[in-house]
Amino acid sequence: MAVTANLGYPRLGAKRELKWALEGYWSGKLGAVDLLKTGKELRLAHWRVQQEAGIDIIPSNDFSFYDQVLDTTCMVGAIPQRYSCLENPADLDLYFAMARGTQQGSLNLPAMEMTKWFDTNYHYLVPEIEKDQVFRFASAKVIDEFVEAKGLGIHTRPILLGPVSYLLLSKSSSPEGVPLDTLPSLISVYTEILQRLSAAGADWVQMDEPCLVLDPDENTRAAYSYAYSQLSQVTDVRLMVATYFGGLGENLSLAVHLPVAGLHIDLVRAPQQLENILTVLPAEKILSLGVVDGRNVWRNDLDATLAQIQQTVSALGMDRIQLAPSCSLMFSPHDLDLETELDAELHSWLAFARQKLDELAALKQAVDDGIEIVAEAFSASREAAKSRRESPRTHNLQVRKQLDAVDQSMLRRENEYKVRKSAQAEKLSLPLLPTTTIGSFPQTPEIRAHRSAKNKGSLPQDEYDVLMKMEIARTIRLQEDMGLDVLVHGEFERTDMVEYFGERLTGIAFTQHGWVQSYGSRGVRPPIIFGDVARPVPMTVEWSAYAQSLTSKPIKGMLTGPVTILEWSFVRDDQPRALTCRQIALAIREETLDLERAGIHIIQIDEPAFREGLPLRRTEQEAYLQWAIECFRLASSGVRDETQIHTHMCYAEFNDIIKAIGQMDADVISVEASRSKMELLDTFEQYKYPGDIGPGIYDIHSPNIPSQAEMEILIAKAAQVVPIERLWINPDCGLKTRQWDEVIPALKNMVNAAQTFRQQQDV
Ligand code: GLN
Ligand code: ZN
Repeated sequence: MAVTANLGYPRLGAKRELKWALEGYWSGKLGAVDLLKTGKELRLAHWRVQQEAGIDIIPSNDFSFYDQVLDTTCMVGAIPQRYSCLENPADLDLYFAMARGTQQGSLNLPAMEMTKWFDTNYHYLVPEIEKDQVFRFASAKVIDEFVEAKGLGIHTRPILLGPVSYLLLSKSSSPEGVPLDTLPSLISVYTEILQRLSAAGADWVQMDEPCLVLDPDENTRAAYSYAYSQLSQVTDVRLMVATYFGGLGENLSLAVHLPVAGLHIDLVRAPQQLENILTVLPAEKILSLGVVDGRNVWRNDLDATLAQIQQTVSALGMDRIQLAPSCSLMFSPHDLDLETELDAELHSWLAFARQKLDELAALKQAVDDGIEIVAEAFSASREAAKSRRESPRTHNLQVRKQLDAVDQSMLRRENEYKVRKSAQAEKLSLPLLPTTTIGSFPQTPEIRAHRSAKNKGSLPQDEYDVLMKMEIARTIRLQEDMGLDVLVHGEFERTDMVEYFGERLTGIAFTQHGWVQSYGSRGVRPPIIFGDVARPVPMTVEWSAYAQSLTSKPIKGMLTGPVTILEWSFVRDDQPRALTCRQIALAIREETLDLERAGIHIIQIDEPAFREGLPLRRTEQEAYLQWAIECFRLASSGVRDETQIHTHMCYAEFNDIIKAIGQMDADVISVEASRSKMELLDTFEQYKYPGDIGPGIYDIHSPNIPSQAEMEILIAKAAQVVPIERLWINPDCGLKTRQWDEVIPALKNMVNAAQTFRQQQDV
């Protein structure tokens, strides 16, 4: 009999129950008991769903109140020193202080740094490892959840983030430390945990080692061998080392020979690795086949997958394989059945997490008893493939023609940055250290209520527009009062920076409930790019032009860039991503030109996802960067010299892509910098980044309000690296997730800090 295994299930809940409970708890409206209860109910519900779908191996410890990496940090007692006043690592408030920072009276603890999980839009909290860190077993979450499931009659396979990947994803808290050097101590804690899991009745543990799909150095390779030879000696628990988000490449031999019982491989991202693996896999080892795409929403081509499985069965025999999603299903939305508004054709092309479980079950049955047993599933899959191939909705000739007509001249500005800089200075007459924000202002419950009333039809569109305009007008006045130099309209009309554009472009569909976790309680609802993309009418011009009509200060038009729209969407898998991205770029280009025509002289094209699109493997990076830069330039370079193009990226790792960022040729870039205390600017300096830079000095991911003095220090730091005439003052990112009473004092402090600094320059 074939065996199905799942690698993780979405944790927010089909109705985002976890989000509401977390936010209730943080705001003080919900007690800890209720929060814990919601967590328990969700775990239970998700285990049941998997059980009912017929999944043989169901995971536990995939649940988290914030992030599985933070959970691991708590498990191994790697609590950074600054939280020691909060002590008890099992304590929720310590946990959330690490995730979000905390301010209590005179106590002001910043959060841990957050960064993107591989090439996904999920964010994890970066562990901070001391030079001689001694780990200790400090949180029994993984054991508790195993026991909890067992109590319900569900025997789970607990998931641990593998020790090597954990350290590779960490940073050292001191310059001379190397996290990987602390592996022996970490292994002793993992040993203890495995022993405890074994004592609790676990027979298998899934060890996630996604870093096995990266390019390792010698040390790293040795670390994997060392870690698993140690762990294999200590317990009878069998380990399934899970790799995903790519192929094993040169790690193949290393991975197959780790002394563990099983290996999981991603056959969606890297189907070609199967053949090699089959020839070298040691005789007794179990191979888990990641055949159902955990990262995308398309219905599986069951015939093709079955062929792949049968190839493996004939090489290894049925007993040595497991059928699994390519990676955890936490990157898929919960349940397609909730989508009542998608048209039938599109609906038939899709599968969300719950449906992916059914696909696994159907594959298992087909392997065990033949296709006839699950004829319906297979014919639905076949029909979906056929209709996607043939539907006129996937091919728009007009767009294809326009794209063919794109030439080199459309990929460059008229003149280089220096020439543009003076044209813009004349046009905009901004002060030294211009202050601005990244675009969005708080999305209050009222705004969300207006939008949902409009969507339900109880608020007419024109009344909704009036309410949005009132909000814009209020925000313009507020920004003027605070003394900001470049204003924004506030993005009140957008739930989400990609969804908003997705709804206005053709070839893109959106869901009602297709939420995927981004970080903590935050979800995004990625659009689904199913066909050729076009822009029938302007998308943002009305709002920006209205805002500009209210003020003599420049308004910054606000667009989401093509790479980010691509990265944060579920993308069609029937043509190269680069081609889909070019179509989007063309649509954004039309929008920038319309904004310019409407009198908007500054246009920001956000590319916060530019970095996460970077392939994990070095050999594939150059090609990506080339088309991604080209798409940004196609979107941005149609405007005149005096129109200032901004871009924004919200992460702090620029080392490996700084050259590419320069080649995007934006006039101004704003970046996240405050959590890492401006460290990233060294990279900009070393590369001699040519344009203006706004390193964020206000960490908007934390509810903490930065003081003027704190921000002055950051400005001073920035000014040591960036020539002052090229320095902008802004927060790290948009303010939509914050409250007005946090934003107003913080921005006042920010403007004051800039003004103080300007005055110092005068004397
Ligand atoms: N303009 C967007 C905003 O302010 C940028 C968001 C982002 O970078 N993630 O919300
Ligand atoms: Zn941002």
